[in-house]
Amino acid sequence: MLHKNLWAPWRMAYMQQLSAELQQQEPIKTDKPVCFLCQAAQAQQEQVKDSLVIHQTAKAVVLLNRYPYTNGHVLIAPHQHVGSLGDLDADCRGEIMELTELCERLLRQAMNCQGVNVGMNLGRCAGAGVPGHLHVHVLPRWEGDTNFMQTVGGVRVLPQALEASYDHLVKVMSKLK
Ligand SMILES: [Zn+2]
Repeated sequence: MLHKNLWAPWRMAYMQQLSAELQQQEPIKTDKPVCFLCQAAQAQQEQVKDSLVIHQTAKAVVLLNRYPYTNGHVLIAPHQHVGSLGDLDADCRGEIMELTELCERLLRQAMNCQGVNVGMNLGRCAGAGVPGHLHVHVLPRWEGDTNFMQTVGGVRVLPQALEASYDHLVKVMSKLK
C-alpha cells in the first residue's frame, strides 16, 4: 500500500525530463526560454493558458503546477531567473509575499480547503526541481489528509483535470483581485 500511495507517475515523467536536461552538454538553442517558469513569466496573451498562468504582476507570476503534488498546487515565481532570495530586490520579495496571501485566499475559496502549505526549496539538495529559478509552492490541504503524500494517493492528474482546475482557478482569481 505504501508503494501505491507513493506512486506519482506525473512526478516520474518530470524527473526523467529533468535528468535528460541535465545530461545535455549544450543548452538547447531556441527563441523560447527553456525554463518553464521563464516561459510563464514571459507568456504573451495567447500563451497564458498553455503556460498555466493564473495571474501576472509587475515582477512575478502565479501559475498552476503541471506536475502537482495535489490538485490545486500553484507556484509563485519572480520574472527574474534567479535561485536565491538575495538576488531579488525588496519590492519583488514583497510582491511574492502579497501573492502568497492572494494564493492562500484563492485556494481556500476555489478548492474549499481548510489549510494551506506554503514552501520554498532553495538549491537542488533542498529539493528544488528548478534550482535556477526560485518559486514558492502553495498547496491546498483538507482535514483528514493526514500526510502529505496521501493527498495524491496514486491518483493521476489527467490533462483534462488540470485544464478544469486551471479554468476554475482563473475564474475565482478574477473575482478576488
Ligand atoms: Zn527561469
